[in-house]
Amino acid sequence: MKIVDIHTHVLPDEPGAALVCIGCGPIPDGALEQGHLFSAGLHPWDVTGDDAEALRKLGQLLELPQVLALGECGFDTLKGPSHNLQEKAFIRQVELSEQFRKPMILHVVRDFDSVIRLRKQLKPQQQWLIHGFCGGPQQMNQLYANGILVSFGLKHNPESLRQVPSSRLFLETDGKCPIQEVIHLAAHIRFAQNIGDGSQFAKSIEKQIRNNADRFLLQ
Ligand SMILES: [Zn+2]
Repeated sequence: MKIVDIHTHVLPDEPGAALVCIGCGPIPDGALEQGHLFSAGLHPWDVTGDDAEALRKLGQLLELPQVLALGECGFDTLKGPSHNLQEKAFIRQVELSEQFRKPMILHVVRDFDSVIRLRKQLKPQQQWLIHGFCGGPQQMNQLYANGILVSFGLKHNPESLRQVPSSRLFLETDGKCPIQEVIHLAAHIRFAQNIGDGSQFAKSIEKQIRNNADRFLLQ
């Protein structure tokens, strides 16, 4: 595959170059035929407690071979319904992820403890990746130690982005800029301050994140 942007909400110019999050649908007209690839999930902000219909639609989407992952779903302490409702919806989605054997993309705001606790408790086979990670190296390593991956966008902690092992590097736009912008930023942070235009380093990062995305999505 050629996915370099592991999380966005915008169809990329080159179909298949990004994993496009579509919530619980629908898929944009013609996008399947054009070769776009998707993740689908019930965002914590959209959880209501009356989620049966949304989850039924999600199950249908997960049957499609072009829907490669479940998400974004997760926890947000600043926005959305009560923690209890968010956790119920999350656990149901972990079950779907396991049933369809598709990994999860998580939205987590100030509640990494819940994710770690549930990873330990539920012992899923599928991988989980927290998108838009802004935490420090210590938090990142705690997540890695519990088998949870992270991806970096424009907003991040540079020290974490510098320290992440190449084999675990994931980058994303979240629909906010071209992916090349994030790749060049990462090249400067990871290789040196002074690398000229950095194009050679950017190419090696691009290759690495594409391989990592393949491994994450096609396990
Ligand atoms: Zn997003």
